[in-house]
Amino acid sequence: MNRQRTEELAELVALSPTDELRRRCEEDRPANISPVIQEWHLKNMERFLRQAAERDELQASRPSGCWCLGIGGRNISWFEEEPDSPALYECKVYCDCDDGRRVQVTATEERARRRAAQRSRQVGRLLAEANIPWRLRSCTFDTYPASAASRDAFELVRRWATILESDDGRVLKNSLLLTGRTGVGKSGLAAAALRQLIEAELMHGAFWAVPQLLAALRPGGDSDDDLVSSLQEVDVLVLDDLGAEKPSAWTLDTLFTIIDHRHGEDATTIITSNLSLEQLAKRYSAVDGELDTGARLGWRIFEMAEAVHVQGPNLRDRADPAIRKVLAEADAVLRRGRA
Ligand SMILES: [Zn+2]
Repeated sequence: MNRQRTEELAELVALSPTDELRRRCEEDRPANISPVIQEWHLKNMERFLRQAAERDELQASRPSGCWCLGIGGRNISWFEEEPDSPALYECKVYCDCDDGRRVQVTATEERARRRAAQRSRQVGRLLAEANIPWRLRSCTFDTYPASAASRDAFELVRRWATILESDDGRVLKNSLLLTGRTGVGKSGLAAAALRQLIEAELMHGAFWAVPQLLAALRPGGDSDDDLVSSLQEVDVLVLDDLGAEKPSAWTLDTLFTIIDHRHGEDATTIITSNLSLEQLAKRYSAVDGELDTGARLGWRIFEMAEAVHVQGPNLRDRADPAIRKVLAEADAVLRRGRA
């Protein structure tokens, strides 16, 4: 049934039976007014009566109990039209006839399908905006190559990203500090956590390697006001490899401003570092000496973030047979996911 016909029928459903209409039209017939207006009233009456007669005829052909004239229900609203799918409607009230049930099932399924498609487009957009480095794009909790040594850290991060609760029921802090030596998979874990928050919670995220971020923020760098406000406002900010940047009073000041703001807002921040929190604080303290910004920075991170130490073999050491094994397993999961 096309859209115009459905709307015509929906109008008919709202009309009274012919006899009732005829009576009302007779009552309403205006007296002592100009012939032009009388003519206009007559035309209207004729139209109403013709439609009502059509409706009565249709009604007689419908199964008993049906009041929808085959459109399925009343109070129709149309789905937003998409380029490739036919327009569909849903009703606030559905008729109990076969047409009513058919229209209801189609509308429900179609609505669910369109919602899912809309959501997946939204996730795609958010992932693209999150600026996750190419090498970490495929990192998810399903494909993360957790080894025996990194299993505990992996589990904690997964619980943090999904239910924000440890396995003994403790509520985890809003942010995350992932420490551990080079190559144990901290960045991959941060990317997987970010991806989880984007896919499940539709959060806006931004992934930044700290040295690149500082290069962009440096006077004369290619940052703009958008970058600065994004660092403050984005739902999840990943600061990858904190402590790898060249230490200076300026970098310390800049990092402190970003982290202090997010600490103040209790905004979710995922920090990875090869250094422990103590080493970070010490490293920054050495830069500005008596100002104590380094110690304050360390304290902010300590207060806001759940500290997770990631152990395990160096995942970048592909010559190691143990690494080859976990990577092959992760690869297999990834391929199954794509198939
Ligand atoms: Zn019906």
